[in-house]
Amino acid sequence: MFTLSQFPLPWATDALAPYISQDTIETHHGKHVATYIKNLNDLIMGTEYESVALDEIIKKSATDKNAQKIFNNAAQVYNHNFFFSGMCPKCTAQIPTEILEAFGSVDNFKEQFKSSASSLFGSGYTWLVRDGDSLKIINTANADTPIAHNMKPILTIDVWEHSYYLDYKNRRGDFIDAFLDNLVNWNFVAENLKY
Ligand code: MN
Repeated sequence: MFTLSQFPLPWATDALAPYISQDTIETHHGKHVATYIKNLNDLIMGTEYESVALDEIIKKSATDKNAQKIFNNAAQVYNHNFFFSGMCPKCTAQIPTEILEAFGSVDNFKEQFKSSASSLFGSGYTWLVRDGDSLKIINTANADTPIAHNMKPILTIDVWEHSYYLDYKNRRGDFIDAFLDNLVNWNFVAENLKY
């Protein structure tokens, strides 16, 4: 039987401290994500979704009214893998020039990304995506994900409360600043920008 397994973190659970604590990473990856993976494996067992690649499960279930739970859990697995892969401790790479050209400056990019992430009501993600020929900052609600809408994800921040509440309580803006100023893996971003 084919089952999806927990994706490994690209760094130690304490590596993003003090910006994101070991406690948060262990809870977020070790408990929340692990539950999405278990739920997904349970849901797809014996269905047409079994043995299908994760991104294909997401695209297929996005238009299947009977597969909402499969979509939610599959998209959460994908979104978390993307979020964690987009961060690194002591990142030194420079912001790619394409982003500077699209947004004018690094400060403008951060301001627009933060504004979008701050205004997201409820649970969801803020993304930098490539939509056709243009780079855009968008929000998605709950488990929704750009690949269900034919957009290519470049970078994301998880602003579900479980992502920052242990460290920042209600100060979501401070979490977004810490992410943008200290944690973004611009090498990962540069790879995603390639056509
Ligand atoms: Mn999360």
